[in-house]
Amino acid sequence: TEEAQRMALQDALTGLPNRASFERGLDHGLTQAIRHGWKLAVLFVDIDRFKNINDSYGHDLGDQVLLMVAERLKSFVRAEDIVSRWGGDEFVCLLFEVKQEADVTRVAEKMIARVAEAREFNGSVLSIRASIGIAIYPADGETADALFKNADTAMYRAKGTERRVVLFRESGEREEGHAP
Ligand code: GH3
Ligand code: MG
Repeated sequence: TEEAQRMALQDALTGLPNRASFERGLDHGLTQAIRHGWKLAVLFVDIDRFKNINDSYGHDLGDQVLLMVAERLKSFVRAEDIVSRWGGDEFVCLLFEVKQEADVTRVAEKMIARVAEAREFNGSVLSIRASIGIAIYPADGETADALFKNADTAMYRAKGTERRVVLFRESGEREEGHAP
């Protein structure tokens, strides 16, 4: 049914596109980017120390935090772009038709700042830290796999840095799936 199809592409908690939906969007976006000579950006977002939030305030409050992060991330992308929930505390954003690569880094920095804005949850005021790794087609990878992997790698390198945003090609070694 249509309902079942919709459910299969949607994350149950946030209503965001899920992993399968993201993979579809990336394949489609990549085809378009190759055809038209566009750039495309993959942003891998992970909440810092999310386990502590669950442990300190409970799983239900953790869910509320995930909903807030989803809302705030969505507010930064255009209607045609995709913010998906990859699973757990991980979100992946897909920006199509990137004109200026510097714009992508700026968007990511604004996302970090917006997510960190203090908000009250059941009487506790929390500021949520997150880290973002970026991979842009074609410079940071030419296939869906390489782009995803490299955005993930950049995210791990972003954790613990002051800036919390790392572009894959600026993050040191390029061994992982990077086209020569
Ligand atoms: P790091 O700073 O390295 O990212 O540490 P972390 O604790 O954020 O990362 P980790 O990925 O180890 O923990 C993610 C946690 O998210 C583990 C899991 O219990 C919790 N989690 C996964 N899905 C959900 C969910 O739907 N709701 C809630 N409340 N918690 C979830
Ligand atoms: Mg995390």
